[in-house]
Amino acid sequence: MPSFESMFSRPGLPQSLPGPPCAGLLFTIVETASCLCVRERLRTDRRQRSKSAPRRILRTIANEEAGFCGPVAKRVFVHDQADSNQELLSRPIRDLGLKLEGSPVERFVEQLYRELEAKGLTKFRPACYLTDEWGCPSGEPIIGIPFYLAHAELAQLEKQAHDLEDSREIMMYLRHEAGHAFTYAYKLHNKPDWKQMFGPFRRPYRENYRPAPFSRDYVRHLPGWYAQKHPDEDFAETFAVWLTPRSNWRKRYRGWRALEKLHYLDRLARTLGNSDPPRRRGQTDITVDEMEITVAEFYHQNGREEVAVTELTPDTDLRDLFPVSKRRKTALPARDFLHQHRKAVTDKVAQWTGAQRSLIKTLIDTIEKRAGELDLRADKAREAEHLAEVTAYATALVMTYVTKGKFIQP
Ligand SMILES: [Zn+2]
Repeated sequence: MPSFESMFSRPGLPQSLPGPPCAGLLFTIVETASCLCVRERLRTDRRQRSKSAPRRILRTIANEEAGFCGPVAKRVFVHDQADSNQELLSRPIRDLGLKLEGSPVERFVEQLYRELEAKGLTKFRPACYLTDEWGCPSGEPIIGIPFYLAHAELAQLEKQAHDLEDSREIMMYLRHEAGHAFTYAYKLHNKPDWKQMFGPFRRPYRENYRPAPFSRDYVRHLPGWYAQKHPDEDFAETFAVWLTPRSNWRKRYRGWRALEKLHYLDRLARTLGNSDPPRRRGQTDITVDEMEITVAEFYHQNGREEVAVTELTPDTDLRDLFPVSKRRKTALPARDFLHQHRKAVTDKVAQWTGAQRSLIKTLIDTIEKRAGELDLRADKAREAEHLAEVTAYATALVMTYVTKGKFIQP
Protein backbone atom coordinates (compact mmCIF):
# COMPACT_ATOMS: atom_id res chain seq x y z
CA MET A 1 0.00 0.00 0.00
CA PRO A 2 1.42 3.42 -0.85
CA SER A 3 2.11 5.71 2.06
CA PHE A 4 -0.33 8.48 2.84
CA GLU A 5 2.32 11.03 2.00
CA SER A 6 3.13 9.48 -1.37
CA MET A 7 -0.52 9.59 -2.34
CA PHE A 8 -0.31 13.33 -2.07
CA SER A 9 3.01 13.72 -3.86
CA ARG A 10 1.68 13.56 -7.33
CA PRO A 11 3.64 15.01 -10.20
CA GLY A 12 2.10 17.80 -12.16
CA LEU A 13 0.73 19.68 -9.22
CA PRO A 14 2.08 23.17 -8.62
CA GLN A 15 4.97 23.43 -6.19
CA SER A 16 3.79 26.64 -4.62
CA LEU A 17 0.89 28.97 -4.55
CA PRO A 18 1.94 31.33 -7.31
CA GLY A 19 2.21 35.05 -7.22
CA PRO A 20 2.40 37.71 -4.58
CA PRO A 21 -0.54 38.82 -2.50
CA CYS A 22 -2.67 40.59 -5.02
CA ALA A 23 -6.05 41.50 -6.31
CA GLY A 24 -8.95 39.34 -5.42
CA LEU A 25 -8.09 39.19 -1.75
CA LEU A 26 -10.62 37.14 0.05
CA PHE A 27 -10.99 38.01 3.65
CA THR A 28 -12.67 35.38 5.71
CA ILE A 29 -14.77 35.85 8.74
CA VAL A 30 -13.76 36.35 12.32
CA GLU A 31 -16.19 34.64 14.52
CA THR A 32 -15.07 33.04 17.73
CA ALA A 33 -12.17 31.75 19.72
CA SER A 34 -10.25 28.74 18.61
CA CYS A 35 -8.90 25.37 19.77
CA LEU A 36 -6.38 24.21 17.81
CA CYS A 37 -6.94 20.95 18.95
CA VAL A 38 -3.71 20.76 17.51
CA ARG A 39 -2.77 22.74 14.56
CA GLU A 40 -2.18 26.32 15.07
CA ARG A 41 -2.99 28.34 12.11
CA LEU A 42 -6.55 29.52 11.98
CA ARG A 43 -7.74 26.50 13.74
CA THR A 44 -10.92 26.93 15.64
CA ASP A 45 -11.59 25.13 18.85
CA ARG A 46 -14.74 23.23 18.38
CA ARG A 47 -14.83 22.61 22.09
CA GLN A 48 -15.56 26.28 22.41
CA ARG A 49 -17.68 26.69 19.35
CA SER A 50 -21.16 27.87 20.10
CA LYS A 51 -23.82 25.64 18.70
CA SER A 52 -25.96 28.67 18.09
CA ALA A 53 -23.32 30.37 15.97
CA PRO A 54 -24.14 30.77 12.30
CA ARG A 55 -23.33 27.58 10.49
CA ARG A 56 -20.61 28.86 8.30
CA ILE A 57 -16.93 28.43 8.31
CA LEU A 58 -15.25 30.20 11.15
CA ARG A 59 -11.82 31.60 10.63
CA THR A 60 -9.92 33.86 12.95
CA ILE A 61 -8.14 36.71 11.27
CA ALA A 62 -7.26 39.27 13.86
CA ASN A 63 -5.08 39.59 16.90
CA GLU A 64 -4.36 36.01 17.53
CA GLU A 65 -1.72 35.64 20.15
CA ALA A 66 1.69 34.61 19.01
CA GLY A 67 2.89 31.84 21.20
CA PHE A 68 2.05 32.82 24.71
CA CYS A 69 3.34 36.34 24.47
CA GLY A 70 2.29 39.55 22.80
CA PRO A 71 -0.41 39.76 20.21
CA VAL A 72 0.44 39.87 16.56
CA ALA A 73 -1.95 41.31 14.06
CA LYS A 74 -2.74 38.99 11.23
CA ARG A 75 -4.13 39.41 7.81
CA VAL A 76 -5.47 36.64 5.74
CA PHE A 77 -5.52 36.52 2.02
CA VAL A 78 -5.44 34.12 -0.79
CA HIS A 79 -3.46 34.39 -3.93
CA ASP A 80 -5.07 35.00 -7.21
CA GLN A 81 -4.67 31.81 -9.14
CA ALA A 82 -4.16 31.58 -12.84
CA ASP A 83 -3.20 28.00 -13.32
CA SER A 84 -4.73 24.60 -13.67
CA ASN A 85 -6.01 24.77 -10.12
CA GLN A 86 -8.24 27.68 -10.96
CA GLU A 87 -11.24 25.53 -11.60
CA LEU A 88 -10.84 23.63 -8.36
CA LEU A 89 -10.16 26.82 -6.42
CA SER A 90 -13.28 28.50 -7.68
CA ARG A 91 -15.62 25.72 -6.61
CA PRO A 92 -17.59 25.78 -3.36
CA ILE A 93 -16.27 23.08 -1.08
CA ARG A 94 -19.72 21.61 -0.60
CA ASP A 95 -19.92 20.91 -4.34
CA LEU A 96 -16.82 18.73 -4.40
CA GLY A 97 -18.71 15.62 -3.29
CA LEU A 98 -16.17 14.82 -0.59
CA LYS A 99 -16.84 11.70 1.46
CA LEU A 100 -14.89 10.13 4.28
CA GLU A 101 -15.82 6.66 3.09
CA GLY A 102 -13.36 5.45 0.48
CA SER A 103 -11.07 8.44 0.94
CA PRO A 104 -7.35 8.29 1.84
CA VAL A 105 -8.12 9.25 5.43
CA GLU A 106 -10.61 6.45 6.07
CA ARG A 107 -7.92 3.96 6.95
CA PHE A 108 -6.75 6.15 9.81
CA VAL A 109 -10.23 6.08 11.33
CA GLU A 110 -10.19 2.30 11.01
CA GLN A 111 -6.82 2.25 12.74
CA LEU A 112 -8.24 4.37 15.57
CA TYR A 113 -11.07 1.88 16.04
CA ARG A 114 -8.59 -1.01 16.13
CA GLU A 115 -6.56 0.79 18.78
CA LEU A 116 -9.68 1.38 20.89
CA GLU A 117 -10.54 -2.31 20.62
CA ALA A 118 -7.01 -3.31 21.55
CA LYS A 119 -7.27 -1.20 24.70
CA GLY A 120 -10.48 -2.92 25.73
CA LEU A 121 -12.92 -0.17 24.74
CA THR A 122 -15.32 -2.45 22.93
CA LYS A 123 -18.35 -0.13 22.87
CA PHE A 124 -16.80 3.24 22.12
CA ARG A 125 -16.58 4.00 18.40
CA PRO A 126 -16.91 7.75 17.90
CA ALA A 127 -18.31 8.69 14.52
CA CYS A 128 -16.15 10.88 12.29
CA TYR A 129 -17.12 13.43 9.66
CA LEU A 130 -15.43 15.81 7.26
CA THR A 131 -15.38 19.47 8.20
CA ASP A 132 -13.05 22.48 8.12
CA GLU A 133 -10.84 21.51 11.03
CA TRP A 134 -9.84 18.89 13.56
CA GLY A 135 -12.02 18.85 16.63
CA CYS A 136 -15.08 17.71 18.52
CA PRO A 137 -18.00 20.12 18.61
CA SER A 138 -18.42 21.25 22.20
CA GLY A 139 -19.73 18.38 24.30
CA GLU A 140 -20.42 16.17 21.28
CA PRO A 141 -18.87 12.68 21.00
CA ILE A 142 -18.09 12.99 17.30
CA ILE A 143 -14.80 13.77 15.57
CA GLY A 144 -14.35 16.37 12.84
CA ILE A 145 -11.61 15.68 10.31
CA PRO A 146 -10.36 18.36 7.90
CA PHE A 147 -11.86 17.82 4.48
CA TYR A 148 -8.60 18.30 2.58
CA LEU A 149 -7.37 14.94 3.89
CA ALA A 150 -10.04 13.26 1.77
CA HIS A 151 -8.85 14.66 -1.56
CA ALA A 152 -5.35 14.41 -3.05
CA GLU A 153 -5.24 17.79 -4.81
CA LEU A 154 -6.71 19.62 -1.84
CA ALA A 155 -4.15 17.96 0.38
CA GLN A 156 -1.45 19.25 -1.94
CA LEU A 157 -2.80 22.78 -1.56
CA GLU A 158 -2.82 22.34 2.19
CA LYS A 159 0.76 21.16 2.03
CA GLN A 160 1.81 24.31 0.22
CA ALA A 161 -0.07 26.60 2.57
CA HIS A 162 0.41 25.05 5.99
CA ASP A 163 2.38 21.81 5.92
CA LEU A 164 0.12 18.83 5.54
CA GLU A 165 -0.21 16.46 8.46
CA ASP A 166 1.76 13.26 7.90
CA SER A 167 0.51 9.80 8.90
CA ARG A 168 1.96 10.04 12.39
CA GLU A 169 0.39 13.43 13.01
CA ILE A 170 -3.01 12.35 11.70
CA MET A 171 -3.07 9.54 14.24
CA MET A 172 -1.94 11.92 16.99
CA TYR A 173 -4.86 14.23 16.23
CA LEU A 174 -7.34 11.38 15.96
CA ARG A 175 -6.30 9.96 19.33
CA HIS A 176 -6.50 13.40 20.91
CA GLU A 177 -9.98 14.06 19.53
CA ALA A 178 -11.04 10.56 20.55
CA GLY A 179 -10.12 11.61 24.10
CA HIS A 180 -12.58 14.51 23.94
CA ALA A 181 -15.22 12.22 22.42
CA PHE A 182 -14.65 9.65 25.19
CA THR A 183 -15.22 12.33 27.83
CA TYR A 184 -18.44 13.47 26.21
CA ALA A 185 -19.74 10.00 25.35
CA TYR A 186 -19.48 8.83 28.97
CA LYS A 187 -20.18 12.29 30.44
CA LEU A 188 -17.02 12.02 32.49
CA HIS A 189 -16.51 15.75 32.88
CA ASN A 190 -19.45 15.89 35.28
CA LYS A 191 -17.91 13.34 37.63
CA PRO A 192 -16.11 14.48 40.80
CA ASP A 193 -13.10 12.20 40.28
CA TRP A 194 -12.55 13.59 36.74
CA LYS A 195 -12.64 17.14 38.12
CA GLN A 196 -10.32 16.24 40.94
CA MET A 197 -7.79 14.74 38.56
CA PHE A 198 -7.91 17.26 35.69
CA GLY A 199 -9.61 20.35 37.07
CA PRO A 200 -12.93 22.06 36.44
CA PHE A 201 -14.34 21.46 32.98
CA ARG A 202 -15.93 24.88 33.05
CA ARG A 203 -12.67 26.72 33.53
CA PRO A 204 -12.45 29.53 30.95
CA TYR A 205 -10.80 28.42 27.75
CA ARG A 206 -7.87 30.69 26.93
CA GLU A 207 -6.00 30.70 23.66
CA ASN A 208 -3.03 32.46 25.18
CA TYR A 209 -2.52 30.12 28.09
CA ARG A 210 0.80 30.28 29.85
CA PRO A 211 2.21 26.79 30.21
CA ALA A 212 4.92 25.73 32.62
CA PRO A 213 7.45 24.23 30.20
CA PHE A 214 8.79 20.80 31.19
CA SER A 215 6.15 20.35 33.90
CA ARG A 216 5.86 16.75 35.03
CA ASP A 217 2.22 17.18 35.94
CA TYR A 218 1.20 16.70 32.32
CA VAL A 219 1.84 14.26 29.50
CA ARG A 220 3.60 15.46 26.37
CA HIS A 221 1.90 14.74 23.11
CA LEU A 222 0.96 17.72 20.94
CA PRO A 223 3.35 20.67 20.72
CA GLY A 224 2.90 23.74 22.88
CA TRP A 225 2.67 21.85 26.20
CA TYR A 226 -0.88 21.47 25.01
CA ALA A 227 -2.20 19.46 27.95
CA GLN A 228 -1.77 22.60 30.04
CA LYS A 229 -4.25 24.57 28.00
CA HIS A 230 -7.40 23.39 29.78
CA PRO A 231 -8.61 20.41 31.87
CA ASP A 232 -10.44 19.06 28.82
CA GLU A 233 -7.21 19.19 26.80
CA ASP A 234 -5.31 17.59 29.66
CA PHE A 235 -7.69 14.63 29.56
CA ALA A 236 -7.56 14.42 25.74
CA GLU A 237 -3.77 14.46 25.74
CA THR A 238 -3.61 11.87 28.53
CA PHE A 239 -6.05 9.68 26.61
CA ALA A 240 -3.95 10.01 23.45
CA VAL A 241 -0.76 8.93 25.21
CA TRP A 242 -2.57 6.04 26.91
CA LEU A 243 -4.08 4.91 23.58
CA THR A 244 -0.92 5.14 21.48
CA PRO A 245 0.44 1.65 20.77
CA ARG A 246 3.85 1.06 22.34
CA SER A 247 3.86 4.46 24.07
CA ASN A 248 5.26 2.62 27.08
CA TRP A 249 3.63 5.19 29.32
CA ARG A 250 4.22 3.38 32.60
CA LYS A 251 7.95 3.61 32.09
CA ARG A 252 8.00 6.90 30.22
CA TYR A 253 6.15 8.79 32.96
CA ARG A 254 7.51 6.96 36.01
CA GLY A 255 7.82 9.41 38.88
CA TRP A 256 5.67 12.05 37.16
CA ARG A 257 2.33 13.24 38.51
CA ALA A 258 1.06 12.72 34.97
CA LEU A 259 1.34 8.98 35.67
CA GLU A 260 -1.56 9.25 38.15
CA LYS A 261 -3.70 10.60 35.34
CA LEU A 262 -2.68 7.76 33.06
CA HIS A 263 -3.47 5.18 35.74
CA TYR A 264 -6.83 6.87 36.30
CA LEU A 265 -7.54 6.54 32.60
CA ASP A 266 -6.48 2.91 32.63
CA ARG A 267 -8.94 2.23 35.47
CA LEU A 268 -11.69 4.11 33.65
CA ALA A 269 -11.16 2.00 30.55
CA ARG A 270 -11.45 -1.21 32.55
CA THR A 271 -14.64 0.03 34.20
CA LEU A 272 -16.30 1.35 31.06
CA GLY A 273 -14.76 -0.86 28.40
CA ASN A 274 -17.82 -3.06 27.90
CA SER A 275 -20.46 -0.45 28.70
CA ASP A 276 -22.47 1.38 26.11
CA PRO A 277 -21.85 5.13 26.32
CA PRO A 278 -24.79 7.16 27.63
CA ARG A 279 -24.31 9.36 24.57
CA ARG A 280 -23.69 7.18 21.58
CA ARG A 281 -24.06 9.83 18.92
CA GLY A 282 -22.93 13.41 18.68
CA GLN A 283 -24.17 16.27 16.59
CA THR A 284 -21.93 17.67 13.93
CA ASP A 285 -21.37 21.34 13.53
CA ILE A 286 -20.54 22.46 10.01
CA THR A 287 -20.09 19.51 7.67
CA VAL A 288 -18.24 19.49 4.38
CA ASP A 289 -21.60 19.43 2.61
CA GLU A 290 -22.48 22.76 4.21
CA MET A 291 -19.27 24.61 3.41
CA GLU A 292 -20.40 27.27 0.99
CA ILE A 293 -17.05 28.98 0.63
CA THR A 294 -14.81 28.12 -2.28
CA VAL A 295 -11.52 26.29 -2.07
CA ALA A 296 -9.75 29.59 -2.83
CA GLU A 297 -11.38 31.19 0.17
CA PHE A 298 -10.20 28.36 2.34
CA TYR A 299 -6.66 28.32 1.03
CA HIS A 300 -5.16 31.59 1.88
CA GLN A 301 -1.78 32.69 2.95
CA ASN A 302 -1.29 34.05 6.37
CA GLY A 303 0.24 37.50 5.99
CA ARG A 304 1.15 38.14 9.56
CA GLU A 305 4.84 37.56 9.00
CA GLU A 306 5.11 41.09 7.70
CA VAL A 307 4.22 42.23 11.18
CA ALA A 308 5.79 39.54 13.26
CA VAL A 309 9.25 39.72 11.78
CA THR A 310 9.45 43.41 11.01
CA GLU A 311 12.32 43.83 13.37
CA LEU A 312 14.16 40.75 12.29
CA THR A 313 17.31 41.75 10.43
CA PRO A 314 19.39 38.62 10.42
CA ASP A 315 21.69 39.32 7.46
CA THR A 316 24.83 39.25 9.57
CA ASP A 317 23.64 36.19 11.42
CA LEU A 318 22.77 34.42 8.20
CA ARG A 319 26.20 35.06 6.76
CA ASP A 320 27.66 33.58 9.94
CA LEU A 321 25.41 30.54 9.62
CA PHE A 322 26.36 29.91 5.99
CA PRO A 323 29.95 31.09 5.46
CA VAL A 324 30.45 28.82 2.46
CA SER A 325 32.14 29.82 -0.78
CA LYS A 326 30.14 29.45 -3.99
CA ARG A 327 33.20 27.87 -5.58
CA ARG A 328 33.22 24.98 -3.16
CA LYS A 329 32.37 21.71 -4.91
CA THR A 330 29.97 20.59 -2.20
CA ALA A 331 28.19 23.94 -2.00
CA LEU A 332 24.43 24.10 -2.44
CA PRO A 333 22.08 27.06 -2.16
CA ALA A 334 21.34 27.73 1.52
CA ARG A 335 17.76 28.43 0.54
CA ASP A 336 17.39 24.91 -0.83
CA PHE A 337 18.98 23.44 2.28
CA LEU A 338 16.62 25.40 4.52
CA HIS A 339 13.61 24.49 2.42
CA GLN A 340 14.49 20.82 2.60
CA HIS A 341 14.62 20.87 6.41
CA ARG A 342 11.96 23.53 6.97
CA LYS A 343 9.25 21.28 8.42
CA ALA A 344 11.57 19.32 10.69
CA VAL A 345 13.13 22.49 12.15
CA THR A 346 9.71 24.12 12.58
CA ASP A 347 8.27 21.05 14.27
CA LYS A 348 11.15 20.61 16.70
CA VAL A 349 11.40 24.28 17.66
CA ALA A 350 7.63 24.29 18.24
CA GLN A 351 7.83 21.14 20.31
CA TRP A 352 10.50 22.37 22.69
CA THR A 353 9.69 26.06 22.95
CA GLY A 354 5.92 25.66 23.16
CA ALA A 355 5.52 28.73 20.92
CA GLN A 356 2.91 28.73 18.20
CA ARG A 357 3.90 26.79 15.16
CA SER A 358 2.62 29.48 12.83
CA LEU A 359 5.02 31.99 14.37
CA ILE A 360 7.95 29.63 13.95
CA LYS A 361 6.98 28.75 10.41
CA THR A 362 6.90 32.44 9.61
CA LEU A 363 10.37 32.87 11.03
CA ILE A 364 11.84 29.90 9.17
CA ASP A 365 10.19 30.98 5.92
CA THR A 366 11.66 34.45 6.34
CA ILE A 367 15.14 33.13 6.99
CA GLU A 368 14.84 30.85 3.96
CA LYS A 369 13.72 33.72 1.73
CA ARG A 370 16.46 36.04 2.94
CA ALA A 371 19.15 33.37 2.50
CA GLY A 372 18.03 33.17 -1.12
CA GLU A 373 18.17 36.91 -1.60
CA LEU A 374 21.68 37.00 -0.15
CA ASP A 375 22.63 34.08 -2.42
CA LEU A 376 24.20 32.20 0.48
CA ARG A 377 25.58 28.67 0.24
CA ALA A 378 25.46 25.68 2.55
CA ASP A 379 28.00 22.88 2.42
CA LYS A 380 26.68 19.39 1.75
CA ALA A 381 29.58 17.98 3.71
CA ARG A 382 28.52 19.98 6.80
CA GLU A 383 24.77 19.40 6.75
CA ALA A 384 24.53 18.16 10.34
CA GLU A 385 26.43 21.21 11.57
CA HIS A 386 24.24 23.59 9.55
CA LEU A 387 21.09 21.92 10.79
CA ALA A 388 22.12 22.05 14.44
CA GLU A 389 23.11 25.69 14.13
CA VAL A 390 19.95 26.78 12.30
CA THR A 391 17.78 24.98 14.86
CA ALA A 392 19.65 26.52 17.78
CA TYR A 393 19.49 29.96 16.14
CA ALA A 394 15.74 29.73 15.49
CA THR A 395 15.14 28.47 19.04
CA ALA A 396 17.05 31.41 20.49
CA LEU A 397 15.07 33.89 18.38
CA VAL A 398 11.75 32.31 19.27
CA MET A 399 12.52 32.23 22.99
CA THR A 400 13.54 35.88 22.82
CA TYR A 401 10.24 36.59 21.14
CA VAL A 402 8.32 34.59 23.72
CA THR A 403 9.91 36.38 26.66
CA LYS A 404 10.47 39.86 25.21
CA GLY A 405 7.87 40.18 22.49
CA LYS A 406 10.56 40.75 19.83
CA PHE A 407 12.89 38.52 17.90
CA ILE A 408 15.84 40.84 18.23
CA GLN A 409 16.64 43.07 21.18
CA PRO A 410 17.95 46.47 20.07
ZN1 LIG B 1 -8.42 19.34 22.00
